Amino acid sequence: MAESQGAEPLFRRLALLGIGLIGSSVARIAMQNRAIAGEVVASARTQATLDRVRELGIADRVELDPARAVEGADCVMLCAPVGAYAALAEAIAPHLAPGAILTDVGSTKQSVIRDVGPLVPGGVHFVPAHPLAGTEYSGPDSGFVTLFQNRWCLLTPPPGTDADAVERIAELWRRFGSMVEVMEPSHHDRVLAIVSHLPHLLAFTICGTADDLEGESRQQVLQFAASGFRDFTRIAASDPVMWRDVFLNNREALLEMLARFTEDAQAMARAVRWGDAAYIEESVQRGRRIRRSLIEMKQA
Ligand code: NAP
Repeated sequence: MAESQGAEPLFRRLALLGIGLIGSSVARIAMQNRAIAGEVVASARTQATLDRVRELGIADRVELDPARAVEGADCVMLCAPVGAYAALAEAIAPHLAPGAILTDVGSTKQSVIRDVGPLVPGGVHFVPAHPLAGTEYSGPDSGFVTLFQNRWCLLTPPPGTDADAVERIAELWRRFGSMVEVMEPSHHDRVLAIVSHLPHLLAFTICGTADDLEGESRQQVLQFAASGFRDFTRIAASDPVMWRDVFLNNREALLEMLARFTEDAQAMARAVRWGDAAYIEESVQRGRRIRRSLIEMKQA
C-alpha cells in the first residue's frame, strides 16, 4: 500500500449508501488503502447500524440522511437492497455534486437503470456495477477486505455513458482486487438469473419443502443434514429483503430460467421413473465437468 502515501486518491470523497456486507467491505478496503478515497462517508437506514459502523471504525463519517451523506462526494455508491434504490435516488438527486459518479453494487441491472437512470441529474455520471462476490451474512460486521479479491465485477453503463467515468469505476474495482468486465444490462440479468438467482430460489424452496415435512422426518432432515441438504441451507440463510428485491427485480429472466429448469427436472424425473440409467449418469457427469471447469478457472 505504498501508493497511498501522498498521491492524489482515486476519489476525494466516497459516499456509501447502505453499509452491510458489500458496503462495509468496500468501506474497510477504502479505509485501509487511502489511494482509493480521501474520505469515506457511510449512510444506512437505521441509526443502530451507523452506531455500529462508528464502533468498528470503518468510515470517517456517518450520516443518517442520505442527502447529507452525498454532499461534496465525487463518488456515490448505492449499497442497499435494489428495491430501495428508487427512493434513495430521489432523496439524493438534488444533492449530487456536478461531475460526481453515481454507481451501485445491486444484483439486478435492468431494474437499477430503470429506477435510478431517469433521476440522475445532468452532469452526474451513472455507472451501474455488480460485484460477483458475497456470503450469506449481512450487516456491517459481516464485511471483510478480501471479499472482492479475484472475483468479477460487471459494469453495465447505459449507452452514451462518459468513458472516463466508466474507467474510474473499473479502476476502483481493480483496486479492490477484482477483474472487471463491461456487459449489456439485459445479458447481465440473464446470466445472473442462472448462476445466482435460480440457485437461491431452489435453496429457499428446498428448505421450505423440508420444513413442511412432519414430525420425525423433519427432525431427521436436520440431524442428517450433511448429505447435500446442508449446502442448500447455507445459501438459504441469505438476507430475506435483499433476495425478495432481487427476485422481484429480475422477474422475467428468473421465470425463464425456472421454466427451463423445470423442464429439465421433469426429464430427470422421467429417467428415474423409467430406469434410464444412461441419462442419469450423463447428467451427473455434466455436473462434474462444470465443477471441474470452475476449479480450473479459479472461481470455485
Ligand atoms: P446487507 O448486508 O443486508 O446491508 C444492506 C444495507 O442497506 C444496510 O446498511 C441497510 O441499513 C441499508 N438499507 C436497507 N434498506 C435501506 C433503505 N430503504 N434505505 C437506505 N439504506 C437501506 O446487504 P448486502 O448483502 O450488503 O447487499 C447490498 C446490495 O449488494 C444489494 O443491492 C445486493 O443485491 C447487492 N449484492 C449483494 C451480494 C451478497 O451476496 N450479499 C453480492 C453482490 C451484490 P440498516 O442496516 O440500517 O437496515
